[in-house]
Amino acid sequence: MRRYPSVLLLVLVAFPGIIRAAQPAPAAAPPERDPQSWCTSVTRAIPQIKPKTCVAAALRPVAVKSVMGRQIMLREFKPAQKNAARVLVVGGIHGDELTAVSVAFRWLELLQQPGYDGPQFHWRVVPVLNPDGLLAKPPTRVNAHGVDLNRNFPTHNWSSEAPRYWKVSTNRDPRRFPGTAPASEPESRWLHDEITRFKPDVIVSIHAPFDVLDFDGPPAGVEVPARFGRLHLNRIGVYPGSLGNFGGLKEGIPVVTLELPHALKMPTEAELAHVWRDMQEWLRVNLVERKAASASTSPERGVPHDEPTP
Ligand SMILES: [Zn+2]
Repeated sequence: MRRYPSVLLLVLVAFPGIIRAAQPAPAAAPPERDPQSWCTSVTRAIPQIKPKTCVAAALRPVAVKSVMGRQIMLREFKPAQKNAARVLVVGGIHGDELTAVSVAFRWLELLQQPGYDGPQFHWRVVPVLNPDGLLAKPPTRVNAHGVDLNRNFPTHNWSSEAPRYWKVSTNRDPRRFPGTAPASEPESRWLHDEITRFKPDVIVSIHAPFDVLDFDGPPAGVEVPARFGRLHLNRIGVYPGSLGNFGGLKEGIPVVTLELPHALKMPTEAELAHVWRDMQEWLRVNLVERKAASASTSPERGVPHDEPTP
């Protein structure tokens, strides 16, 4: 009988994950009840961004909260001219890709700079779609239900393909669990609804660490970008339930996915500037010049609903 404690100790030392798995999921309400405390928590997780930078971004909460009750924050930049091209930027779908969140905040800084001509576009920027994953200790790819939000969007044949892909192709990788139903999660459901409301012309999704540029979209839509800075086009394929698959193939909205080179280490300032410059140019050519050229022959676009209510 005396052997059992030492055997148990050996097992726990060899497989420390057992200890974590045995712990109940945290259920306490998170403290981030206002934008200030939200910024304090988020910038603690991403040291590249200062709290005052986050506060200055003037984000405001959308109507839906995360599984743990955290706010999902959004900033809108609306130009004076009507019918401007719409760009939806999403960072932090995967909570452990810290640089993806930081880059979204850097873009928010750039969009606020005086003299920036980006207001020719109508922007909505969501720097952290998965706040529970970002603020978990350690940060997690999945949300608080253990769902990979980027496999949970209601793509074609989700019910038959997403669970099968997870079981067979990922060997039930818990980091890629697609959930039990399409759009089952408040975070992915909100983004789905936001795409329906906002009707973006382009969705830009920021990830890490594959160091490529990916594109999903309608064959006769915009020109496929060759590179943004150091990120060169490499179409890495579509997955059941991914945002690229949902937006690009089901909804017919071009989805540009930036895969930064590292999840924890930020690109250099020069690399960031190059990516930003190339992206602005691609947006300008495809959303302004090409649209102006085809405006006379295209049917009128839908009009976005008002800003989402808090
Ligand atoms: Zn990712």
